[in-house]
Amino acid sequence: MKKAFFSLLAVLLLPAAVWGFTYLLNDHTNLPYKWPPPAVPITIMLGSSTPLSDGTTYNSSAQAAAETWNNVLGDNKFTVTISSGTPGDHNGVNELAFASTVFGQPFNADATKAKTVLAITTEWTVGNPSSNQRTEADTIFNTAWTWDSYRGALKGNNVIDIQRVAIHELGHNLGLNHPDEAGQSVSAVMNSKISAVDTITTDDTTGAQNLYGPPGVPANDDFANAIAITTGSSGAATVNGYNTNATKQTGEPNHAGNVGGHSVWWKWTAPSAGNVTLDTKGSYSDTTLGVYTGTSVSALTTIAGNDDIQDGVIQASSVTFTAVGGTTYFFAVDGFSNADALGADSSGLTLNLNFTSTGAAVPVITTQPSNQTVAAGGTATFTVAATTATGTLSYQWNYSNAALPGATASSYSIANAQTANAGNYSVTVTNSAGSVTSANATLTVTTPPPVTTPTSSGGGGGGGAPSLWFCAALSLLGLARRHFRSRR
Ligand SMILES: [Zn+2]
Repeated sequence: MKKAFFSLLAVLLLPAAVWGFTYLLNDHTNLPYKWPPPAVPITIMLGSSTPLSDGTTYNSSAQAAAETWNNVLGDNKFTVTISSGTPGDHNGVNELAFASTVFGQPFNADATKAKTVLAITTEWTVGNPSSNQRTEADTIFNTAWTWDSYRGALKGNNVIDIQRVAIHELGHNLGLNHPDEAGQSVSAVMNSKISAVDTITTDDTTGAQNLYGPPGVPANDDFANAIAITTGSSGAATVNGYNTNATKQTGEPNHAGNVGGHSVWWKWTAPSAGNVTLDTKGSYSDTTLGVYTGTSVSALTTIAGNDDIQDGVIQASSVTFTAVGGTTYFFAVDGFSNADALGADSSGLTLNLNFTSTGAAVPVITTQPSNQTVAAGGTATFTVAATTATGTLSYQWNYSNAALPGATASSYSIANAQTANAGNYSVTVTNSAGSVTSANATLTVTTPPPVTTPTSSGGGGGGGAPSLWFCAALSLLGLARRHFRSRR
């Protein structure tokens, strides 16, 4: 199988210096090399003896460079150890250090140009070509230069700001490459030549977040929060997201047979019968894809699933299926997992949907029924609006997904509503091409608190107003007590 972890074989040398977003790609999978979660430990061994122009030391300035990236990353933040000594190549530690050579190799093969290179980051990856995992990255700063720490314009006399160089090199450590050398003209600290850009730009941030996500949990982490995709007359739609920090829910199926662990959800209602192609091309990690129908994450019907378009090589996922008009399909995108301690992949995601209609359009619901709240004994009315391109519309209202006898108009009223009537209502709208069912609308039935008849206050004068007020106060007390008890 793909992605077994073999010994570490490959080393790449990345010249960094004479210096939107692009990546250090695995040329077998065409996906970026990236770190496995949860963190990237780095050891800074640049020295802390000399205060620099901005009051930092080489160590603390480089640590600030790491924090600059950490502020925008969803996972794989740098964790910093300050140390001293001599760095080692392929020793399992990600080190930042000064040296006059890169583990014995010159900064530039042309010795007369060696000084043009400010720093180099080496990259170790897993030997298995199907693995996109990086395993070690060391950054060596060239001692041929004079180093300081400052912001803004470059100083003369070739005095180099270590912080922006560290930001740039740590960008390589994360997996970013030089946008200018990929033919892009953007403002970026990742451009190949040092400049007045002294921190990460929007382009740098976008590039890093495509690999490691933004901070926080995605909004469509849970099945119930699936984001709706709409396909217009073209039948095509492309949506983007992240599965970084997403979780697998209790009862959630394995997508494409893989345990996964970082799934997110989209949904789409077929406007007619037709053929669907769905893929994750453009995603930044090894995905899995599952297509389902159903209303509960723990009771789904599998329609289709795929791990890789080409096993271990083209690690995006693609499925085709025949859609029934009016049916809502749920799409789960997860990261491939070797079921090891590293867990599932995660990154920026792209989901592409292409739909070709093969039949007449089912009704389109233009106004969904809305939630209703009524007092017990009141009347609740649900209403739907829908259009049809084919034939006439008929309606069937449902309660808890079961058809309500005789509830066959565009509105449905419940007179003398009681708590037993509370719950989820929907309506199925049908034309000659098929049916579509609305979203659920919830009926909430409120019951007044029990009325406590006030005891006579005597005095004979008690007119209506004081008694009513007293009664209301008692009711409020009753509510408060029940509320308090319910929390015990
Ligand atoms: Zn570089």
